[in-house]
Amino acid sequence: MAISLAMAAPAAAQTTEQTDDFAYNNERFADLQMLRYKVEGFERLSLRQKTFIYYLQEAALTGRDILFDQNGRFNLRIRHALERIYTDYKGDRTSADFQALTVYLKRVWFSSGIHHHYGSEKFEPGFSEEFFHQAAQSVGVAPSLINEICPVMFNPDIMPKRVNLAEGQDLVLTSASNYYRDVTQQEAEDFYTAQKDPNDPHPVMFGMNSRLVKENGRIVEKKWTTTTLYGPALARIVNLLRLARPYAEDADQQAVIDKLIEFYTTGDLHTFDQYTILWAGNTAPLIDFVNGFTECYGDPLGLKCSWESIVNFKDLEATKRTETLSQNAQWFEDHSPVDPRFRKEKVKGISAKVITAAILGGDLYPSSAIGINLPNSDWVRREHGSKSVTIGNLTDAYNKAARGSGFLDEFAIDQATIDLVRQYGDLTDDLHTDLHECLGHGSGRLLPGVDPDSLKAYGSTIEEARADLFGLYYVADPKLRELGLVPSDEAYKAQYYTYMQNGLLTQLVRIQPGNNIEEAHMRNRALIAHWCLEHGKKDNVVEFVRRDGKTYVRVNDYVKLRDLFGQLLAEIQRVKSEGDFAGAQALVEQYGVKVDPELHREVLERYQRLNLAPYKGFINPVYTAVRDAQGNITDVTIDYSEAYDQQMLRYSRDYSTLPLVND
Ligand code: ZN
Repeated sequence: MAISLAMAAPAAAQTTEQTDDFAYNNERFADLQMLRYKVEGFERLSLRQKTFIYYLQEAALTGRDILFDQNGRFNLRIRHALERIYTDYKGDRTSADFQALTVYLKRVWFSSGIHHHYGSEKFEPGFSEEFFHQAAQSVGVAPSLINEICPVMFNPDIMPKRVNLAEGQDLVLTSASNYYRDVTQQEAEDFYTAQKDPNDPHPVMFGMNSRLVKENGRIVEKKWTTTTLYGPALARIVNLLRLARPYAEDADQQAVIDKLIEFYTTGDLHTFDQYTILWAGNTAPLIDFVNGFTECYGDPLGLKCSWESIVNFKDLEATKRTETLSQNAQWFEDHSPVDPRFRKEKVKGISAKVITAAILGGDLYPSSAIGINLPNSDWVRREHGSKSVTIGNLTDAYNKAARGSGFLDEFAIDQATIDLVRQYGDLTDDLHTDLHECLGHGSGRLLPGVDPDSLKAYGSTIEEARADLFGLYYVADPKLRELGLVPSDEAYKAQYYTYMQNGLLTQLVRIQPGNNIEEAHMRNRALIAHWCLEHGKKDNVVEFVRRDGKTYVRVNDYVKLRDLFGQLLAEIQRVKSEGDFAGAQALVEQYGVKVDPELHREVLERYQRLNLAPYKGFINPVYTAVRDAQGNITDVTIDYSEAYDQQMLRYSRDYSTLPLVND
């Protein structure tokens, strides 16, 4: 599971930290702002560690094409045609059409496909089909390919959404992501339900590494392995993992790599579980990595996992914070406001750390989560624990890049609130992320016999809400003061205010006019904020205030707001523990989906005047291996100067691992 950035533009503290001359902000286009992140401490690693990271980051970049293909069947073909035009077009490169094509290509790179990375709606090209046809032909793109992709790019009725979660529709047939082919939602659900044994205490994650297709009337799974679908990419990743293996930090980490190679080779789901158990238990090394089929947000049924990778090393200083939380995990579990039947009697091995990202790949690039908690399997987490990380250098880059954006001044209700958020906003935001990842996702348990997938399309939203509420409830707990994690009993109010403001108001800047809320994390935040608004009405806990034609959020009673977070946490945990589909559906549909069009329009207008990009993503640093005459690596250098388009073109050249058609 991934946690994404809560705020469209985080409210940065402008007081304490000094500015450094690192250029965090980079180019801006469409609704996107590119940032750079600093890999603090890389130079101080040993040669062995640098070499390990070098091979792992190569492996991280090598899976890029997999994600493009997972996100849509024509994405690789479209990227290919656009890149040919971008590099080779000899016509007027200053024309409006060519400029629009440039922006479109940059968005396709950013989203790993033709749909918005967050809202999942298809991009409107902004240049004419005639221009594209003529330009593609002029640079030698095959006419058959042009004819094939034109309707996909230009006809708004074809593949309009990557992930469709609209109630009452066939979510599989209407989603453009490439996880199912000619299969209905009912057929897909039946196919996987038939494989499940409700009495198996250790169920594998059926369907996580395959495409489900209908061939000659029969439904078959096409697995992703080194010799089947995505074989060329996975085989190259396996080779790089073999090169990395001798430099692993300990023997246990070598065993992790061996098991991952075995999984990529066989596609066996029991092997995958064994791999995740080894991975979750391998907590000693400084350097760690994720490489594989991981996040299920791109599948409307939440089964198929998108490919992603991150290579990282521990931030030892900041990790003291998360270690304090995990050492007290049992205390938090025992005191949580949920029904004791749904609590974990024994919280197992939650390992939590703050990490420095060295490279981002697949579904973490360029748009990245700021925290990750893995593995996803419920029983593995229960019996073997999970690893939870917050990515310190990315959060830091977001905060530094947001300095002086004017966002907080525009939307916060008064100066006292602005001061509060400036003083404690970054700190409590980090703490909330830690609580969400280290404790929230790992807390609670399912009642025996409850199918972990029973909440179906609502599962991701409910799970994120559960983790967020756990964090919200405890960020205000006196225990944090006692543990020395907050400097004041008032600090939590900064997090409460920004959370409510975001859920009720400012996250709407990420939604197109007329659209509903689709993305799981956004649905979760809307659900929590609107539920608390409504259930706190009689005590006027939170309210909307209109002033000079603008709407603000006012929190009147922070203590009661905490109580509401606790009540909702208890209810959400019950829904999850009992597998109450109807309960999940009612909560999400009533509070998490709909948008007030009037308020939406106002928020978009105010946001537009600030001239900020609602989404951000990262340009990776470039690692270069320095070799001696024998080819041995003698050093690995890091460089931050590569431009966004140069990076994307280089990746398409050097890490193009799949054919244009993967059927
Ligand atoms: Zn999460």
